[in-house]
Amino acid sequence: MNNRCKFWDCFENISPVHTFCGDHFEWVQTGDIDECPICKRGKFTKYPLCTDCDSKPAEVVNSDQTKLATIQLLSAVDDVILMVKSEASVWPEDKQKQLEHLEQMANQVRGELQAG
Ligand SMILES: [Zn+2]
Ligand SMILES: [Zn+2]
Repeated sequence: MNNRCKFWDCFENISPVHTFCGDHFEWVQTGDIDECPICKRGKFTKYPLCTDCDSKPAEVVNSDQTKLATIQLLSAVDDVILMVKSEASVWPEDKQKQLEHLEQMANQVRGELQAG
């Protein structure tokens, strides 16, 4: 089975154990590439979205400030979830539930953004 580089416009075939091709992996290491909050593919860190998502018709992703802010917030929430997840296993159950809820909300908002 072929695996493709996760970067949004890269179609490099790579080994199934890798996420990015050699070139793009280097950019990930240097922090120049992170994840697009909408499609979850790799994109350049300096842009809020990958060019693909950014250039979609207005009804899918418009330039509305609120939407952009939501996307940025979503990305921040994702970072927080990722950061605390490893230590959440020792949290009391109610706190874990809250984290779960946050994650569900983030996924829901992401779904709504994808649906436009
Ligand atoms: Zn690549
Ligand atoms: Zn994207």
